[in-house]
Amino acid sequence: MSDDYLTVIPTDPYWQPGTDAGDRAAAALARMLPDDDARRGLEAQWHDVVEAVHCGANLRAISCPHCGAECASAWWGEAVSKCYEDGFRTLMTTVPCCGVETSLNGLVYDWPMGFASFRIEVLYPDRAWLTDEELAELADALEHPLRQVLIHIQVVLMCRLAPLGQERHRLVEVLLGVRVWGSLTIAWAMSALALSRGGSGDATSPASTSSE
Ligand SMILES: [Zn+2]
Repeated sequence: MSDDYLTVIPTDPYWQPGTDAGDRAAAALARMLPDDDARRGLEAQWHDVVEAVHCGANLRAISCPHCGAECASAWWGEAVSKCYEDGFRTLMTTVPCCGVETSLNGLVYDWPMGFASFRIEVLYPDRAWLTDEELAELADALEHPLRQVLIHIQVVLMCRLAPLGQERHRLVEVLLGVRVWGSLTIAWAMSALALSRGGSGDATSPASTSSE
């Protein structure tokens, strides 16, 4: 059992559109979906704080934007946790590979993910990645460049956690529930990273992953 959610976020985690621009972009995204079923869960959301927008089981690797070295998931989890404790007022961190200071949002995520205080979310888009042209059209409507995140939630992976203890199993269940209700927490992000090590799939991320 699995679900795909499509989320588009501004490339600047702290940037928020006005109501008109946000609604205009949501309407533009609605026109890119195949039918009314796909449009049903579409929603533009403004949040008071920056949140992680994780790609769930699609996450395969996180790399340094400077030297290209792969970042250890444990390091990333700690770096995110540290910024989270500070309410994501800053996303700046120092990568262990080459010591460069960079934004967590500027790391190279395969598949794409990011941080945002505004998002347009489609729960069951029933389509693949947006094309570069479609992303450009949405960016025009929003008046800000966008990044797309295809969130893959593989509920079956929860079963793999069962041997690790009933408590952890329950925790993941709760976090998945939280995610479904639209409030992506960093705890979910970190658990999903652990989950993603068991993820698989033949699809590839878009050739032109947007950068910061
Ligand atoms: Zn590096």
